[in-house]
Amino acid sequence: MTTYGDCTFCCATVEEKRIEYDYRRKGNLLIVSNVPAGVCRQCGESYFTPEVLKKMDQLYHDIFDRHQKPERVISVPAVSL
Ligand SMILES: [Zn+2]
Repeated sequence: MTTYGDCTFCCATVEEKRIEYDYRRKGNLLIVSNVPAGVCRQCGESYFTPEVLKKMDQLYHDIFDRHQKPERVISVPAVSL
């Protein structure tokens, strides 16, 4: 169990959850499921431990730089205003 401390935006309690996170970088988007994160009960802001951030960064490089096959590929609708 990781302690995340209180939310830096609204000071409410942050609780540990598993979330789906949209990891965006350099115009790429990687959807990561089952990510352990601290989520603020009030405003929903999410917090990650350095280990989790490092793991997501590794996965990003595996897929976009080292061209490893992801578990699944989904298509996402895109629009402009
Ligand atoms: Zn908050």
